[in-house]
Amino acid sequence: MDASLVRARMILRFPFWGVLSLNLGIKFCETVDTHRVDTMSTDGRSIFINQHYWESLSDDLKMSEIAHEVFHCAFGHLWRCGGRNRLVYNIACDIVTDYNLKLSGLEITKKSVLFTFGTLVNPAGSVEEVYEQLLQAGLADNIPFEYSDSGRHNDWSSTETDDQSLQLKWKSAISSAAAVSYPGTLPGFIKELIDDALSPKLDWRQLLREFLMSAKSEYRWMPPNKRFLHRDMIIPSLGGETLEVIFAIDTSGSMTMENIRAALSEVTSIYDSFQDSKIWVVQADFDIQSVTLITDSKEIKEIVGRGGTRLLVNQIYKKVIDEGGNPNCLIYFTDGYGDVDDYIPIPVIWLLYGNDKFSPPFGWLIKYNEE
Ligand SMILES: [Zn+2]
Repeated sequence: MDASLVRARMILRFPFWGVLSLNLGIKFCETVDTHRVDTMSTDGRSIFINQHYWESLSDDLKMSEIAHEVFHCAFGHLWRCGGRNRLVYNIACDIVTDYNLKLSGLEITKKSVLFTFGTLVNPAGSVEEVYEQLLQAGLADNIPFEYSDSGRHNDWSSTETDDQSLQLKWKSAISSAAAVSYPGTLPGFIKELIDDALSPKLDWRQLLREFLMSAKSEYRWMPPNKRFLHRDMIIPSLGGETLEVIFAIDTSGSMTMENIRAALSEVTSIYDSFQDSKIWVVQADFDIQSVTLITDSKEIKEIVGRGGTRLLVNQIYKKVIDEGGNPNCLIYFTDGYGDVDDYIPIPVIWLLYGNDKFSPPFGWLIKYNEE
């Protein structure tokens, strides 16, 4: 059965997934950019299908495999990885996806990770919850080869992970597909999925802490793989180190005192909750204004700067190393009005205060949202 026929049948039998699938083009190909397509993959705009793989599937599996890719897009899996271990994250996404598709009545391939790793977790949870449960089960330390980089279809590296308009498009797509497909009451699991996608429970503070937790206990951070450098992704590798973090605070005139105070109070509370971590606070506007290795959470009282802005990631990193530091990540609190100087070989988080146009050349963007 060809792809358009599969889709037509899906609209009749599984309207929610069928209608959602209309948001994706279908392309048969062996490679996308430089990546091989061995099975299927998606970039949020199209589904890429390997013809041989397609022909090996039964009609029912063709349907569920398309729904599987649709699910990754519709529920934001392409954009939610953040600083997580990508392989474990991919497995978490696939478990959640196949679990929910199975609940919808679709046939799931016997090779699904739902049947291998699904028993380690509660597959009804969010991707983030399942990810944490997989880590607790020790999966990060022994990922079987077939789930390693080369064995996976979740190569989302070509996705613009901060493409806001694409993310918005999918958010409105799930709402309208739900309205069309379930004119009465939404099934509970669909409602939960939609609620989670429309208003993820994680706020910036949680995201930041999650990142620091993983930097501290789970991973040794490696220089990002070149392929991902401009793709807003950080690839951690396994190991253990203590957390040594640079908090760079943009104290230029465009930042409000309120924002600067919020940044400082966050640093203070992180200092208090991450025992035996080393925390550097660097204040910078057009130049570096002060560098402090914190030894007491009340230490930073004076705010210095308030001139023009440059985003001196590289200079700040070098300065801290000159002062004897060995940082493993850098968090930049800024409103993003200024040029980024140069790349550094440790992960960078931009904690951004209300500037939708800022698009950093590397690192991971978290938007500040005061509740
Ligand atoms: Zn998948």
